[in-house]
Amino acid sequence: MLSATRAFTLKFSLPSFAFSTKTCMESPPRSPKANIFNSSCRSPSRKADAKDTGYASITLQEWQGWGTTSPVPAKVLEVVEDFKLLEKANDAQMTFGGSGGKLQGEFKIQEDKKHRATYEALGDSEKKIQFFSARQIACRVLGSRDYLCQKCWLPLEEDCMCSKVKHSSLWPGVRFWLYMHPKDFLRQNNTGKLLWQVFGVQSATLCLFGIPEHEEIMWNAFKLAGKDKVWCLYPNKNAVTMSVYDAFGQGFSADLEHSPTVKNEDKTLNFVLIDGTWSNSAAMFRRLKEQTKSVWGEEDLPCISLVTGASTMHKLRPQPSWDRTCTAAAAIGLLSELQCLPGFNSCGLDKQVEALEDALVVLLEALTARRLRMGRSITRKVRHISNIC
Ligand SMILES: [Zn+2]
Repeated sequence: MLSATRAFTLKFSLPSFAFSTKTCMESPPRSPKANIFNSSCRSPSRKADAKDTGYASITLQEWQGWGTTSPVPAKVLEVVEDFKLLEKANDAQMTFGGSGGKLQGEFKIQEDKKHRATYEALGDSEKKIQFFSARQIACRVLGSRDYLCQKCWLPLEEDCMCSKVKHSSLWPGVRFWLYMHPKDFLRQNNTGKLLWQVFGVQSATLCLFGIPEHEEIMWNAFKLAGKDKVWCLYPNKNAVTMSVYDAFGQGFSADLEHSPTVKNEDKTLNFVLIDGTWSNSAAMFRRLKEQTKSVWGEEDLPCISLVTGASTMHKLRPQPSWDRTCTAAAAIGLLSELQCLPGFNSCGLDKQVEALEDALVVLLEALTARRLRMGRSITRKVRHISNIC
């Protein structure tokens, strides 16, 4: 019996934190919603003071605490050092606010000028990508420190959902790579993070776009695995894709003799999930193709599309504010379709699908509760569909 898979229709604009503490203080609440608005002030401006707190450095322990497996990226550390120098030179303290670690105040004005000049001065596009990514990530790590839970990326004291997430072991024949855009790193509504929360970082590994330390780990694993064990899940109609059945339905299963308990590195299927907005995903896919070419001499990275995936993805974008794929739903779709194939139906994938679905529900509930507390409208609709195969 095949497991029923739920598809989610989301209709809510994403949580954001438009009000800094300062704004709230300066604009006395005038509406009956005063108390609820005040609660949004609990997303305070966050000061990063190198002198008092040692904020400016990122340790390996902190870096890996956010879900990554690499050393602290050298370029991220460089950006942090530059911030520190800028603080000293201008006597302006680093202040962060909002979600995503956005710089604020006088420091932001100074840093804006500086990073634009640095970016313009960089010669080639590769250096520009790496600088862009490193700066984004440095801001997010410094701005989220002591504010977001490192595991679930939700505000630590108010919304941490970790106690409700159940862990599950992913069948060792599958490994996910979350190829994530820096702007999605530490985003509260990101769903890719659920994969390593549920399955662990060895079964679902984060790879940040434009961070060489991450991309190297991923590509080294792909080189070891071989090209025929690497697939990209890319829900773009312009890419040439195969269905899960075409790729793994016939003949492939005979080649896959995994024991559920013994990991056989040579036969593990590596699936890249592109975790970014639709507008960013094209650039991310292009980079994957370029790297495919530099590793294997040809840029045709094999792509998988889901039978149910396209419609699920489409439903997940009912309005411009949700202009991203739901990465967890893509993983759920893939595992569910694999589960339907003869070579995979004894791998327990249905249980793993269930664990991921449960975690997605927990995240949606946490985000909804947060919006309610902040006095924002909820027009979320979760629909259950049970027709995956
Ligand atoms: Zn948490």
